[in-house]
Amino acid sequence: MEQFEQIDEQRSWSLAQRQAGKRISFVPTMGALHAGHASLIERAKSEGDVVVVSIFVNPTQFDNPDDLEAYPKQMERDWEVCQSLGVDAVFVPTKEAMFPNGYCTFVEVVGPLQESLCAVSRPGHFRGVCTVVQKLFNIVQPDCAIFGQKDLQQVLIIQRMVSDLSSPVEIIVAPTIREDDGLALSSRNQRLDDESRANAVSVPRGLELANQAFKAGERNSNKLMTAFANEVLMYENVDLDYADVVDLDGFVECEEANDHCILAVAVFFNGVRLIDHIHLGGPSLPVAIED
Ligand code: AMP
Repeated sequence: MEQFEQIDEQRSWSLAQRQAGKRISFVPTMGALHAGHASLIERAKSEGDVVVVSIFVNPTQFDNPDDLEAYPKQMERDWEVCQSLGVDAVFVPTKEAMFPNGYCTFVEVVGPLQESLCAVSRPGHFRGVCTVVQKLFNIVQPDCAIFGQKDLQQVLIIQRMVSDLSSPVEIIVAPTIREDDGLALSSRNQRLDDESRANAVSVPRGLELANQAFKAGERNSNKLMTAFANEVLMYENVDLDYADVVDLDGFVECEEANDHCILAVAVFFNGVRLIDHIHLGGPSLPVAIED
């Protein structure tokens, strides 16, 4: 497995692969790899001839410096995970390589996708994401890139960016991988203390309760959101960032839910922010629900 820190090295390698007729599939990550990332890498292997994984904790997408500082870093273990999964090249650029002194160009998707959920609660977040993803596409020159459905707003914004900028990259969305108790895997889960980890299962449980209410005929979005909120807010040290019913097309808030809507949520457990969502009327989440 190759490892590159310099942009030129990664670009030369990618160029050689393309000249040899290989299809490059790409998985951008911020490291602290878990089974969710592994599933994207497996998907990448089935979509291309060679797989590139990038590991870069992108400072421009953090609106909170403490969150950036606390983001888990475990490069040696990540390297081993990539090696064991048969990744061909790991791109680990330095911050200085990606954002040298004098850097002043940013990519921003505007419009409805930027007016709800994480775009509102984390100002500038998606501008940082789009800038780094487009820059990584320019360097890695992949044929396709795999993103997780867990970060649904992110992947919809990236699809919009790629389409609007005519980037020649196919965007593939892979399903959310969960723990046995239903909690979506996230690098941030490592930062949960034992109590918060136990309480965090209320996120998928609350989503599933709202889903069950929807399936039983409830269409009032406020009531669906309340079903979720009641479930998570019964614990201490929990803050609800948002719980919104939005339409899947434009992420516009819906007062009345329909089967083209998701319930998307962001919740702080003792300061650690977790996000998740459920497609209303869609498959159930694997959670235990008591009567
Ligand atoms: P991150 O390292 O958190 O920036 O995530 C890198 C990629 O992994 C993104 O495309 C995420 O959507 C995806 N991802 C994160 N968690 C999961 C999960 N539980 N299941 C599937 N994909 C995930």
